Amino acid sequence: MLPFGIEYYRPDTIDEALKLYRRLRENHQEPVFYGGGTELLTRARLQNVHFDAVIDLKNIPEVRVHGRSGDWLEFGAGLRLTDLADGNLWPLLTATADRIADHTTRGQITLGGNLLSTIPYREASLPFLLMDEAEALVATEDGIESRPLANLVSDSFIKPGEFLVSVRVKGDEAKGIAYRSRKMTRQDWIDYPLVTVAVTRRADGSLRAAFSGWAGFPFVSSAVNHILSDTGKSARRRAQEAVAHMPVKALEDLHGTREYREFVTEYTLAQIIDELEDD
Ligand SMILES: Cc1cc2nc3c(=O)[nH]c(=O)nc-3n(C[C@H](O)[C@H](O)[C@H](O)COP(=O)(O)OP(=O)(O)OC[C@H]3O[C@@H](n4cnc5c(N)ncnc54)[C@H](O)[C@@H]3O)c2cc1C
Repeated sequence: MLPFGIEYYRPDTIDEALKLYRRLRENHQEPVFYGGGTELLTRARLQNVHFDAVIDLKNIPEVRVHGRSGDWLEFGAGLRLTDLADGNLWPLLTATADRIADHTTRGQITLGGNLLSTIPYREASLPFLLMDEAEALVATEDGIESRPLANLVSDSFIKPGEFLVSVRVKGDEAKGIAYRSRKMTRQDWIDYPLVTVAVTRRADGSLRAAFSGWAGFPFVSSAVNHILSDTGKSARRRAQEAVAHMPVKALEDLHGTREYREFVTEYTLAQIIDELEDD
């Protein structure tokens, strides 16, 4: 039971959804865009968010795209995490998204909801942060705008009244890449991450790593990537240096101390480097 009443809308087009949001705001209501509802409904029950109308986007065809379009691999924001695994269009995305929550919850959580979550992990963003060409298509009053996914964690990435339609990556870049994605939790297989590390190795041997759980937001760091790519040093040494040069300090929270996060990240990175360079 929710502690307050809400109106539910399920528009069929992008235009309808944008107009609906505007009309509700003009009527002094507080609408929110709705993916799988897992976060919104939990927060509403805890009474740490208030809204009186939800605009469920999942009937909009553009929000459900899942396939190749020209050079791009496209993923609708309304796809559920289980849809990503079932389609397995991009194995790195499958590997990362398939470790979020448990299978039943992944059947509710949408890609858009995970990417725009107020919960800090947003693990499905890691594969996109590793790509040169990764874009978000955002529905705005001025039409569909393409925005770099590298800006996902910026406050201005999506403004009130706008919504995420889909995300896309260049197929050739995404598919021709060796990768590992590893989620480290404190104890159980299913839990929020102590740290999740996704690493790619490109044809020229360079490595890139994206992290979730280390800080209050997912990130990549060019300084860290530079260190990881220095094949003149052992995997262990590179992992040590990478951890020492992270752009922010590791979190201290109920999942683990700063020192423990550093230790686990270093160990995981060293193992992944060895594996990728042995392939
Ligand atoms: C049991 C459980 C376990 C979890 N474990 C993990 C985990 O291991 N790793 C992890 O990364 N996350 C985890 N999460 C967090 C989860 O991924 C996020 O809470 C996510 O937001 C839920 O997606 P949803 O589709 O249900 O979002 P919703 O509840 O529908 O929406 C969440 C937020 O996103 C906004 N939103 C949704 N879709 C759009 C859109 N297309 N455009 C604009 N705004 C939009 C909503 O307005 C809202 O603010 C877990 C959540 C649960 C409930």
